[in-house]
Amino acid sequence: MTNETGQNFDVIIVGGGPAGVSAAMGFLEARLSCLLIDRMPDLGGQLPDIPSPIVNLPATTFKDGAAAAQALRQALESARILARDSEEEKLGSELGLRSNNASLLTVLNQCSVTSIATDHEGVRIGTTDKSGNRMYKARYLLVATGYRVRHLPIPGSSPQNELLERHWHNHTDTLPADLRETNLAVVGGGDSAVLKAVALAARANTVHLICRGRSLRCRPDLLALIEKVGNCRIHTLTQIVGVLGDKALTQVLLQREQGQPFTLDISEVIVKVGYEPNTEILDGIVKLTTTKHVVVADGLVTSEPRIYAAGDITNEAHPRIASAMGQGMLAAGQICEKIFAEMRS
Ligand SMILES: Cc1cc2nc3c(=O)[nH]c(=O)nc-3n(C[C@H](O)[C@H](O)[C@H](O)COP(=O)(O)OP(=O)(O)OC[C@H]3O[C@@H](n4cnc5c(N)ncnc54)[C@H](O)[C@@H]3O)c2cc1C
Repeated sequence: MTNETGQNFDVIIVGGGPAGVSAAMGFLEARLSCLLIDRMPDLGGQLPDIPSPIVNLPATTFKDGAAAAQALRQALESARILARDSEEEKLGSELGLRSNNASLLTVLNQCSVTSIATDHEGVRIGTTDKSGNRMYKARYLLVATGYRVRHLPIPGSSPQNELLERHWHNHTDTLPADLRETNLAVVGGGDSAVLKAVALAARANTVHLICRGRSLRCRPDLLALIEKVGNCRIHTLTQIVGVLGDKALTQVLLQREQGQPFTLDISEVIVKVGYEPNTEILDGIVKLTTTKHVVVADGLVTSEPRIYAAGDITNEAHPRIASAMGQGMLAAGQICEKIFAEMRS
């Protein structure tokens, strides 16, 4: 199969986070040609967004996600150099079997995969980058597109909302420096919402934690912590249904399940409602769960035999770096076996 750049790819990987990079290293080890595509300027996926130390990887710890992302990129680069300079590559090149100028791994950053199609021979993907639209082909596709932050739009359609946007923080921390007189709302019930509420309670007048579930979903130790914070109020089974204010946010309108709407004096809202999978490109192509995660069988093959998936998009229960890496390598191994079998037949 040939794409318009004239190269043959055995595999295309979409997503350059821990799962995609781990898989790319598996394909380097197997000496299969691989195109790795990511829409961000650098590989690393969600890692650069992790502000805290990473302490759950058996190989090492990192002071933050940026350090982990750098290590990931370095590992891939070292593997690429070692593959290129290996004895078998040199011998293959001397015997005319392989050009040692040929790169087994091609990385495209700032390139988005926008469409996927399969046929009996393999997979075709459509991409968009600053130079325009392109199409690439491969025998197999591995999708490792991870999670993105889930946003919560400002409720209500009042034209005032645009003026209030700077007080509605969708995972961005653009809060005023001095919060001593400020009443805040944090929306969410998971670990990061609770941690944020506890941290802000030390700086703000009052923090209201607004959670639509029956109870908070956070770790038990965090629950015990927040229950002891004096200026933190927890509102379960409650949702924000409107915002009030002229040039600035002054109140939020809340609705408790089966209760009357009520208002609270709030001037900043911080949204921490979790993450959602980047699986739009697979919609209608492979089977997805009701929460838009990819359904995979043993070996991480999807409902479409030429498409595999790895990392957070398959792992709603426990999305973690180590599991994404393990899944990336497992999927790579399964795809290698398929390709070797096709080559032998
Ligand atoms: C704040 C925070 C803290 C965390 N802390 C930890 C921790 O301490 N320990 C831990 O184990 N885990 C932690 N995690 C989770 C961990 O980061 C993820 O489990 C891991 O990054 C998942 O890897 P992945 O390869 O599946 O996906 P991702 O890392 O999300 O990578 C997916 C990549 O695919 C790209 N992509 C998506 N769609 C397309 C497309 N259409 N075209 C091209 N590219 C695309 C994305 O841009 C991204 O670069 C944390 C996550 C966050 C957000």
